[in-house]
Amino acid sequence: LRTLLKGGMIYMPDGFRRMDISIAEGKVFEVAGNINENNNYEKVIRCDNFFIMPGLIDVHVHFREPGFEYKETIATGSRAAARGGYTTVCTMPNLKPAPVDEETLKVQTDIIRKDAIVNIVPYGAITSNQSGRGRLSDMQAMADDVVAFTDDGKGVQKDTLMSQAMLTAKSLGKMIVAHCEDEHYPTEDPRSEWNQVARDISLAMMNDCAYHVCHVSTGESVDLVRAGKGAGVDVSCETAPHYLVFSSEEVPDEGRFKMNPPLRTAKDKAALLAGIKDGTIEIIATDHAPHSAEEKKGGFADSLFGVIGLETAFPVLYTQLVKKGEISLEHLVQLMSVNPARRFSLPGGSLQVGAPADIAVIDLEAQYRIDPQTFSSKGRSTPFSGMEVFGETVLTMVAGRIVYER
Ligand SMILES: [Zn+2]
Repeated sequence: LRTLLKGGMIYMPDGFRRMDISIAEGKVFEVAGNINENNNYEKVIRCDNFFIMPGLIDVHVHFREPGFEYKETIATGSRAAARGGYTTVCTMPNLKPAPVDEETLKVQTDIIRKDAIVNIVPYGAITSNQSGRGRLSDMQAMADDVVAFTDDGKGVQKDTLMSQAMLTAKSLGKMIVAHCEDEHYPTEDPRSEWNQVARDISLAMMNDCAYHVCHVSTGESVDLVRAGKGAGVDVSCETAPHYLVFSSEEVPDEGRFKMNPPLRTAKDKAALLAGIKDGTIEIIATDHAPHSAEEKKGGFADSLFGVIGLETAFPVLYTQLVKKGEISLEHLVQLMSVNPARRFSLPGGSLQVGAPADIAVIDLEAQYRIDPQTFSSKGRSTPFSGMEVFGETVLTMVAGRIVYER
């Protein structure tokens, strides 16, 4: 199948340029000015008013299948991803069964093969029951089919267990990805996060292991990662859109503002933005975590942790960060596509000739109010509900195949 996207602003490492891009056999075939459209294309799409970027990549989503299909499935989650401009996502292992060995991982990869419309690369669990405690999972048996190892949702409590996990991951050429939560403190206490970030960075240094911190929410964590990088540790981190837009001082008593880690102070929010600007935080992930309406209706005290994010991340960040002059559009593309592809060795993140044709076409002029009733996700609970934003996905393409069209 040969497709030609004509006249759009195309993301290149040195910035956006108005060009044409042709796709053949699932790959970027040519990027140039004025490609002849009478050249055997099955489809020619005018993109004059649109921006064309490498498909977004989310290294932190919960698709809930197998085990919790009433919250989300591989099919609905991947449709939400496509609608949000995402072409590759990495799914967290808090499933039933959790991927802890070859057999349990296969339950999930069989469904992915059948139902996914974007690239889905699962994580394997660190521990044998994905609890942050006990003994290690069968990491070796899963290594070929997982992006990395994590017990997301649970911090690994014992230093010795984390150290073992790092040594095993390293021997398999994989990264340890950590939800940092020291259970000696309540989650509202920022120490619950940064205490483990501090411990893990020293363990990563000692064990010479590649290490990534999930959903960084505190200023102290940003400082620790910055210092770790300065000391030569192979450490990276992500934050999520909600931590960059809201702070704890302004949170209404509604389940759609409840997630773990929680929203922190305005000072933390400013520290996260500073971390993005100086490159300490090189990835933005959504932590897309759908629940049923019933599970999120109980106000702050009685709702489950987690909000969805795939269908709002780009427009929210474009509106709140790029349009307000905090970061450039190019930097946003790096945070949401180029950097996660590089750090996690995932497909995409580039529109150079020969790259997989994983592409998002975005209409940056489109202005609308976020309405969860229009979502493809089964989840509806988002702190961004009702927010006025710019930027709408026009088309998403995975390996040259159109998986979403406005
Ligand atoms: Zn987490």
